[in-house]
Amino acid sequence: MTTPIMTNPETAIPSRTPAATTADDIVMPFEVSALDLRGRVVRLGPMVDEILEKHAYPQPVAKLLGEAVVLAVILGSALKVDGRFILQTQTDGPVGLLVVDFTTPGKVRACARFGKEGVEAAIAAGKTSTGDLLGNGHLAMTIDQGADTSRYQGLVALNGGTLEDAAHEYFLRSEQIPTRVRLAVAEEFTAGEGGARHRWRAGGIMLQFLPKSSERARMADLDPGDAPEGVVVPQAPEDDAWVQGRALLETVEDVELIDPDISSERLVYRLFHEPGVRVYKTADVHAECSCSRASVEAMLKSFSQDDRDHMVEDGKISVTCEFCSMNYEFAPGDVRANLKS
Ligand SMILES: [Zn+2]
Repeated sequence: MTTPIMTNPETAIPSRTPAATTADDIVMPFEVSALDLRGRVVRLGPMVDEILEKHAYPQPVAKLLGEAVVLAVILGSALKVDGRFILQTQTDGPVGLLVVDFTTPGKVRACARFGKEGVEAAIAAGKTSTGDLLGNGHLAMTIDQGADTSRYQGLVALNGGTLEDAAHEYFLRSEQIPTRVRLAVAEEFTAGEGGARHRWRAGGIMLQFLPKSSERARMADLDPGDAPEGVVVPQAPEDDAWVQGRALLETVEDVELIDPDISSERLVYRLFHEPGVRVYKTADVHAECSCSRASVEAMLKSFSQDDRDHMVEDGKISVTCEFCSMNYEFAPGDVRANLKS
């Protein structure tokens, strides 16, 4: 099954005004026509800092969630329909669940569920790579266009690898699109009044080989991705343009994806100035939760009276949003189910 809405070319008007300084919290699509490559650069500053700071998760969990946020922004911002893109991992490692919600055009929220002791043990043992923290399970990507439409869901296995690996695997097997993704998250420390101030920064880049010519497009006619597990799918030799693009992407240093002194334009220019690169209008992203007192109230009213009775503590029902930590309190009488006469 394919999701063309996720991979259609960007049709915005190109703007060729090179930015001198880095714009944060943006997505910048680009195209390298000579090599049939398309991609997008994501730079996250205050947005990712707001999401990760609010949670106050242990450092490796925050960093991991930051990577998932970057990946969700790269993929969600490519949606050609209004709706929600949900990236979710479900695995057996110390961090059992990561959820990132991207609502078009650029609203993001995210949270993680993890075992405190498992994470502490992983930190003590120095085993805090993405693979160590996630373990085995799957990565699910869901496109939700609202109540009256069907959901699309793509699944890919996570077997002790990185989120990048999972994304490559997904695009190759499910969409037959050679894809490379790089994700980077780091803490930035700056001197300030009252000591060093710490901020999260994150960035990423995705490159895809989307050939226009039929000669190259034949490359895409590989196995549709439903081969049984363990079966090696025969692969045609890779197109030279893709080999070149992939090699260029491998030269990107993590710091280039995060450094506020390197603009997105400068980054893609450094990589692709020889074949020539065109950048497109950037899109903004920001941190915002979609919870509200009304939606929590509706959720509570949907439970049985017995369930609600069990939620009462100190004479009130208290609900904390897992995404944004907002706390909502209700008097038990306020959330009785509406009785139908
Ligand atoms: Zn919330």
